[in-house]
Amino acid sequence: MYTLVLSGPTYYQNKIQNLNIAIENQKISKLSKSKLKSEATIKTKDLILPGLIDPHVHFREPGNKHKETFRTGTCAAAAGGITTALDMPNNYRHITTKKLLQEKEKIVSKKAVIDYGLYLQAGIPSEADTPLMKYFLGFGSFDDYEKCYSKSTGVNVFHAEDPELFQEVENPTIYDHNTIHPPEAAEAACKFINSLYSKYQKPTHITHITTRQEVHTILPNITKGVTPPHLFLSIKNLDVLGTFGKVDPPLREEADRIYLLTHLDKIDCVGTDHAPHTPEEKEADYPAAKSGLPGIEDYISLLFTELHKGNLDLSTIVRLTHAGPAKIFGLKRGIATGNDADFTIIDRKKERIINVQDHFSKCGWTPYDGWKVRGEIQKTLVRGKTVFEKEVGILTRKWGKNLFKIDGK
Ligand SMILES: [Zn+2]
Repeated sequence: MYTLVLSGPTYYQNKIQNLNIAIENQKISKLSKSKLKSEATIKTKDLILPGLIDPHVHFREPGNKHKETFRTGTCAAAAGGITTALDMPNNYRHITTKKLLQEKEKIVSKKAVIDYGLYLQAGIPSEADTPLMKYFLGFGSFDDYEKCYSKSTGVNVFHAEDPELFQEVENPTIYDHNTIHPPEAAEAACKFINSLYSKYQKPTHITHITTRQEVHTILPNITKGVTPPHLFLSIKNLDVLGTFGKVDPPLREEADRIYLLTHLDKIDCVGTDHAPHTPEEKEADYPAAKSGLPGIEDYISLLFTELHKGNLDLSTIVRLTHAGPAKIFGLKRGIATGNDADFTIIDRKKERIINVQDHFSKCGWTPYDGWKVRGEIQKTLVRGKTVFEKEVGILTRKWGKNLFKIDGK
């Protein structure tokens, strides 16, 4: 007799199969085509996917709690079907030392609804080394980055823009953002990262690439991520979004967006880069308006909308949202016995209109408000516990845990 059995159409071994999944002690303990006896059952007609992993979020705490908190951020993630999220270190005080990382862990561990990891900001000082290192070029010198990278033992994740190549424009508006942060700055940064990789061969990932040129420039052993804004928005959308469309790297030409969307076979993962700012912070004049867009709650629906149009297949979606990030960050995930029982259950055909009123994120706006999409998350299970259910909402105050070591011991 199992504690819990999840039954329904499951994406398993590259196809949809009717499965019964027994869950014991937060892990998958048996997979079977025949019925399994259990104390409790979740039976669904909706599609069961391996839990989504988002390797790039900004949940803002500690510090900017007026934009988001670790609780509202992880609630938004759970509602978006995400079971694990990796949080960036650009808090109010950047997380540059292990001591700051430990302090952050103390605060956020009490609030996490889903599992998570915390990045350490690489550069200055470069003494620290943790499983998740984030390099924001421009925060330190290239020499500091090399020192840090050469000693690293974790995954090195890069924001690839070389500030030396940023341009100056007189009386700039949001329409100049793609000129001020030009594609050449991204390409030059990719070449620098290539040189680091060639010299030291450390695990290396470039988050949010935005152009065809970067795809061609980056060495094959360096993994590549894209964000929903660079797949679903371009400079064309600035007429509607104005400064709300400000993000680094910028929204690019429509041709680059279409190139990325049609060449996802060359990409390893999607990270949302969920970067909440308040509407007041976004509507300021350029260049004062803050950079970054929210979007954690609807990215899976944006991908399923492309699937519905015939532009994407299910195996690509699962690879980009689960298997790819799991591999890059060394997470033992996937639907197999012994792995954590993390599942995303989605009504994949449901047509709906994105409405910011339904959102859990504290920032109160989304660039996709009013978009007609396909796919609605019905349930999110983290280690066998239902943390989100469509009809009820968030079902826990705290369940998530850090999946990565903080102290390096
Ligand atoms: Zn980011």
